[in-house]
Amino acid sequence: AVVIEDLHKSFGPLEVLTGIDLTVTSGEVVCVIGPSGSGKSTLLRCVNLLESPTRGRIHTLGVEITDPDCELDALRRRIGMVFQQFNLFGHLTVLDNLTIAQRRVLRRTRAEAERIARENLDRVGLGDKAGAYPAHLSGGQQQRVAIARSLSMGPELMLFDEPTSALDPELVGDVLTVMRDLATEGMTMLVVTHEMAFARDVADRVVFMDGGVIVEQGAPAAVLGDPTEERTRTFLRRVL
Ligand code: ATP
Ligand code: MG
Repeated sequence: AVVIEDLHKSFGPLEVLTGIDLTVTSGEVVCVIGPSGSGKSTLLRCVNLLESPTRGRIHTLGVEITDPDCELDALRRRIGMVFQQFNLFGHLTVLDNLTIAQRRVLRRTRAEAERIARENLDRVGLGDKAGAYPAHLSGGQQQRVAIARSLSMGPELMLFDEPTSALDPELVGDVLTVMRDLATEGMTMLVVTHEMAFARDVADRVVFMDGGVIVEQGAPAAVLGDPTEERTRTFLRRVL
């Protein structure tokens, strides 16, 4: 579903990604771990061209996004992205947060959009919050609303960038449960996370990044349990 070849990304003189090769196949869950500043977010943002690569090629959902003629808007509609901050519209109810892009971007009718929104609110365990405003929800509930909003657009690929990092510890579990369910249902997912237990239990593959390169990747048990690279071991000693 995603094929990244020799991806380089610089910001001015700063080389942030220096030759990334990574493939995420359809239905696969890949977790990206690594120290702060290693380029994890930049990598994720290149997949839907929120950052444009300095060099290399990326195919996302069959579209070569590094081709200047590709239909970027059409492609982005097929990709869901969930960030650390939830970015919900504070002046809209939960239901309206979930329907607005469906109606404006996908041109669904209000009835159709609301039906799909309610399905997805049920899916994240918030079926009773349709009429609430974001400010009245916990951070974990807001993040689940953000996920439901993404799912309402019918994505074929979900990108997560530390979706639980801004949450109080007791709220993390519910969000991870939603993500775990999504994985079980066969969603293709690329997940930047510090949640090692989630990576171990849910990922098909774990990728360890450091200094703008992939140092090591493989099955979770191998990368997290018995890494071959010293840099991976050093990182894991610090976080586990
Ligand atoms: P963290 O775990 O802290 O989120 P990360 O692995 O996601 O880190 P990135 O956000 O990808 O790291 O950043 C990698 C490097 O690129 C950092 O040195 C960062 O300062 C730099 N960087 C990221 N975005 C920009 C930008 N728009 N302009 C300039 N430098 C940037
Ligand atoms: Mg980041």
